[in-house]
Amino acid sequence: MLRFAILLFSLLGPGIRGSTAQDAALQDFINKLDGSIILQGQPQFNKAKSVMSSQYNNAVPLMVVYCTSEEDVKHTMLYAKQINVTFCVRAGGHDMTGSSICDSGIVLDVTRLNQIIVAQDKSWAYIQVCVSLGRV
Ligand SMILES: Cc1cc2nc3c(=O)[nH]c(=O)nc-3n(C[C@H](O)[C@H](O)[C@H](O)COP(=O)(O)OP(=O)(O)OC[C@H]3O[C@@H](n4cnc5c(N)ncnc54)[C@H](O)[C@@H]3O)c2cc1C
Repeated sequence: MLRFAILLFSLLGPGIRGSTAQDAALQDFINKLDGSIILQGQPQFNKAKSVMSSQYNNAVPLMVVYCTSEEDVKHTMLYAKQINVTFCVRAGGHDMTGSSICDSGIVLDVTRLNQIIVAQDKSWAYIQVCVSLGRV
């Protein structure tokens, strides 16, 4: 139990440290994720939140969630709703208006959703949202 508490404490960034209920909601969210998460305050956070246009790098989201499944996208959106924060979707992060980063919200990163499946008879293809045009 103590090890669990220490692990959770080290995972929580300053932006979402709070009540037991908030901590439990975060832990529940982490448990559901296939992908990974980087929280405000963790060493990799500044790199994880950065976007192409450096003028938006002063924005400080609560966390960056690297979704690896459609279920992850759903869980992330539901979690944002549960804790009442905004979220933004980020693919390549090249947008010049700053819309792929959000202050005090959740960056929902889709770069790992990059699978292509083609039917054997080539009658259909399943292409996930972050497949670049070159690969298609
Ligand atoms: C140096 C530079 C050169 C450029 N040159 C060109 C050019 O020649 N021609 C051109 O057309 N554009 C150009 N752009 C613009 C760029 O192509 C667009 O900003 C493009 O949207 C970037 O794609 P991205 O995957 O990086 O988007 P992101 O910045 O990740 O996202 C862009 C927007 O789409 C949303 N979004 C991303 N993925 C999803 C998703 N799966 N579902 C819902 N919403 C989503 C984001 O929330 C955001 O609002 C250039 C940009 C830069 C920085």
